[in-house]
Amino acid sequence: MSLDATWVVEWMRHSARVLAENRAELGTLDREIGDGDHGENMDRGFIAVLSELDAIPDDATPGEVLRRAAMTLISTIGGAAGPLYGTALLKASDAVGSETQLDGASIVALLRAARDGIVLRGKAEVGEKTMVDSWTPAVDAASSAEGAGESPAGILRAAAEAGSAGAEATEPLIARKGRASYLGERAIGHRDPGAQSTALILHAAADAARNA
Ligand code: ADP
Ligand code: MG
Repeated sequence: MSLDATWVVEWMRHSARVLAENRAELGTLDREIGDGDHGENMDRGFIAVLSELDAIPDDATPGEVLRRAAMTLISTIGGAAGPLYGTALLKASDAVGSETQLDGASIVALLRAARDGIVLRGKAEVGEKTMVDSWTPAVDAASSAEGAGESPAGILRAAAEAGSAGAEATEPLIARKGRASYLGERAIGHRDPGAQSTALILHAAADAARNA
């Protein structure tokens, strides 16, 4: 089994829906340890991605869809998250090149490139209470699932579950990057909003693959 550009389009649509549904919750998380705009930022960015999707030709490759979504996120999401998610999708696009069908190995490469793009841009390591704390366990779980012979849908489900666990595991951490780092120990007990939005986006990827 493999996934094509329709999956990427569906991934972006599912992401837009779940980010809209969780806009208030992401805002609350960001109010606790940041400036409260993460829900708004993500919702605005993915609404713009939705209108961009309408302009994408039917014969676009997965990489082209990812590239256009990336450019849209970079230009519409303010704050830290826009360039980080934009870079993630740009690197994911590069990783799949001109492939039209993505097998399990390509899905792992896509996720790994996305995570590496975020690390390249934001310089955060695991344990610093950022979205990297969701992405990295997700990539590791995806890689293990692929090694165990899981389908692309199974790989994405494993990534999503590990990403959620990673987001939850940011709660006891002190933040070392971004606005939350100004809070010191006061960040303890709060989940990182970017790790939570990453978990939502990874679940959207898995949900989009379910019927593919
Ligand atoms: P801002 O902090 O500019 O208001 P957002 O609220 O949209 O931007 O995004 C905040 C999220 O961005 C944080 O919860 C964190 O996950 C992520 N983040 C911030 N700085 C970094 C970084 N250097 N590396 C990775 N992620 C980061
Ligand atoms: Mg913010």
